[in-house]
Amino acid sequence: MTVSGDPLVVLENVNKYFGDLHVLKDIDLEVARGEVVVVVGPSGGGKSTLCRTINRLETIDSGSITLDGMPLPAEGKALARLRSEVGMVFQSFNLFSHKTILQNVTLGPVKVRKTPKDKAEKEALELLERVGIAAQADKYPAQLSGGQQQRAAIARALAMRPKLMLFDEPTSALDPEMVSEVLDVMTGLAEGGMTMIVVTHEMGFARSAAQRVVFMADGQIIEESSPEEFFTEPRTDRARDFLSKIL
Ligand code: ADP
Ligand code: MG
Repeated sequence: MTVSGDPLVVLENVNKYFGDLHVLKDIDLEVARGEVVVVVGPSGGGKSTLCRTINRLETIDSGSITLDGMPLPAEGKALARLRSEVGMVFQSFNLFSHKTILQNVTLGPVKVRKTPKDKAEKEALELLERVGIAAQADKYPAQLSGGQQQRAAIARALAMRPKLMLFDEPTSALDPEMVSEVLDVMTGLAEGGMTMIVVTHEMGFARSAAQRVVFMADGQIIEESSPEEFFTEPRTDRARDFLSKIL
């Protein structure tokens, strides 16, 4: 959990519109290497859009985003490389349903990184071990529980050796008893030094794993503070109102 050096991700004055709807308003955000930032806020506030701009699933209308000091590439091979350097895990697990768990995890390294198949499989099995589902390697996604599928999705993102992991409400679609197995994997990643931006309302995770909480509403960053401070002494009425609804 070392936080040091130049920031890995820098957003400056980022604005994004969907038609007339201004969904990201002058967003300034820096994420240090090894830092875990939790993003919270009401539905429709722009959290998912923020994540999606960072791996360029969405373009921005003004401002700048850099990863490792470099502007996000717009297209071609550089964009494919960016997508591999920024792992993303969504609420829905997005696994390829007609491929086994092992194939899901090896696909990116073999196709994008040109890793030889046997090496990719060896590394995939190690990752599946790490997220606790090595025994499921030859099964298809539908044969796994939601928690296992989400852990497979995390392993698949990690197989690309990302510099940054984005998690967008990774546990919201899970049955309650499966939430902790996914959060445990994420906590392990955080402890291992992975830089992470995590949209979640899981306060326990925020408190134990995050250095910073960013509260977003109406496309703006309303406040930023330590998890302890945010959850016990939010500074704004908006944040107090939000917390009174989720806690
Ligand atoms: P959050 O993740 O905080 O719930 P989103 O980033 O998903 O918020 O959405 C922010 C706003 O942008 C919402 O008003 C949403 O309806 C709108 N929005 C999101 N994606 C699109 C899209 N592809 N086209 C038009 N509007 C969108
Ligand atoms: Mg969202």
